[in-house]
Amino acid sequence: MTAAIFASEAGADVTLIERNDRLGKKLLITGKGRCNVTNNSDINTHIENTPTNPRFMYTALNNFTPQDVMEFFESLGVPLKTERGDRVFPVSDKAGDICGALKRRINRLGVNVITARAEKVISSDDGFTVTANGKELHCNAVILATGGVSYPLTGSTGDGYKFAKSLGHTIIEAKPSLVPVECEEKWIKEAMGLSLRNVSLTVKDGDKEVFFEQGEMLLTHFGVSGPLVLSASSHMKGLGSKKFGMFIDLKPALDFDTLDKRLQSDFSKNINRDFINSLGELLPAKLIPIIVRLSGIDGRCKCNSITREERHKLVSLLKALPLTAKKFRPIDEAIITSGGVNVKEISPKTMESKIVPGLYFAGEIIDVDAYTGGFNLQIAFSTARLAAESAACEW
Ligand SMILES: Cc1cc2nc3c(=O)[nH]c(=O)nc-3n(C[C@H](O)[C@H](O)[C@H](O)COP(=O)(O)OP(=O)(O)OC[C@H]3O[C@@H](n4cnc5c(N)ncnc54)[C@H](O)[C@@H]3O)c2cc1C
Repeated sequence: MTAAIFASEAGADVTLIERNDRLGKKLLITGKGRCNVTNNSDINTHIENTPTNPRFMYTALNNFTPQDVMEFFESLGVPLKTERGDRVFPVSDKAGDICGALKRRINRLGVNVITARAEKVISSDDGFTVTANGKELHCNAVILATGGVSYPLTGSTGDGYKFAKSLGHTIIEAKPSLVPVECEEKWIKEAMGLSLRNVSLTVKDGDKEVFFEQGEMLLTHFGVSGPLVLSASSHMKGLGSKKFGMFIDLKPALDFDTLDKRLQSDFSKNINRDFINSLGELLPAKLIPIIVRLSGIDGRCKCNSITREERHKLVSLLKALPLTAKKFRPIDEAIITSGGVNVKEISPKTMESKIVPGLYFAGEIIDVDAYTGGFNLQIAFSTARLAAESAACEW
């Protein structure tokens, strides 16, 4: 959509082919329906948050910066706000406003929108032939912006990889990124549906810490999900062929001693009650029987009989509830596809194929991916604008 807008603004006669009967299906579900449209930070921060092929992004990001993206949407009539972590959202908290603004601009520019699945892209000496719905379209340039293979119900089923491959490109194997994680522990099923807010998550590869952040996570029937886990997943390279330790600090605002004092106070308030009935103010109800079991303290023993040693063990558990990550969920549940068209075969200055002149790439189809925070949509917008402005020159 962004590519169609900028190519049209640059004077090209543009046809946008979309297989869904409406535009921007994935965009509508971004940021839990609020669309974290970019990250209001400098280009270096964007580069640092792009673990796969960051240097490929320099020209595209400089050509259409995060602040340019914000100006662009505000100029289209969508006021934006910057939240924690410099994440930018529409003031309305509605992804539909971002999508609607792009659609309106597309209509106003008179872009020809065809709702059909592109089936073939063939290059010849006098341009390209794209087949969609049995009909052939001839053009001077093609921009492939078909996304990756995550959330295929939104339309991204990897068709673009097939087109690129048939035109001579190599595809780096698609792998899930920003993806929920399956855990070994059986108890996790009992806590299914529990959302943990204001916790911190540490991930370790053996003894080496590979991730630490505070935020929100979700316990599910298979393991863990939610913002903290999706971010952590990008740092768990090789999960599946090896395991990672995950440790949830349920009370990150309290250090060991403060939490110990808090427990002493809770126990003295509940001096003659059973241990299992004394944790109601500290923990969500679903977690209490699990924590009691993992603590090794008999839930039916009276609070006044708990020893200092047992209490310290409990504090350690609350500060580092252990989980064992065994594998990622399948790629269709991933927020982002890592992999795609090899960046070595694309000019970073124009997004043009180095193999087929006149062929361009934009967005998630390219082997570039970033962490959560609005960085992935920025990649899509920046590469789209650069591809569009370069492709329009073919016109
Ligand atoms: C649940 C979820 C939440 C997300 N939240 C955020 C967020 O808040 N912030 C952020 O920065 N990123 C977010 N992302 C990532 C972001 O959505 C993607 O990086 C971005 O949409 C990629 O844009 P794209 O245009 O390259 O691909 P897509 O958005 O996948 O668009 C590709 C389009 O091509 C169409 N298409 C594919 N094949 C064909 C064909 N053969 N013929 C015709 N049309 C075809 C598809 O139907 C689709 O509409 C989220 C992703 C998911 C799944």
